[in-house]
Amino acid sequence: MAFKKPEMRGLAHHLVAARTMTASQFRRDHWVLMTRCPRCHLDCWVDLDLLIRLSGPEVRLWNGHARCRRYGCSGKMIFLCTPPGEARGAFWPLADDRKPL
Ligand SMILES: [Zn+2]
Repeated sequence: MAFKKPEMRGLAHHLVAARTMTASQFRRDHWVLMTRCPRCHLDCWVDLDLLIRLSGPEVRLWNGHARCRRYGCSGKMIFLCTPPGEARGAFWPLADDRKPL
């Protein structure tokens, strides 16, 4: 089987692969990640360089949460992704519920 560039692999492949991918694999394949707080709706970009520096290259984000960055909000942010080759601005949750947002 020939090598296929990440941006040529298709959405279904990416949404299955994302379950087991590490932060360094997301960075290598040029995924775009963001977080969203379900309580206050704050959206933040995820800087994969910084995330890897703080949490290590092997950290997995599937079903992961992060503390909300808004002052006074106690929400837990969820991770969202745009796989390589997909339209900019279309995000899918890195979680078991996969409705596009
Ligand atoms: Zn919040």
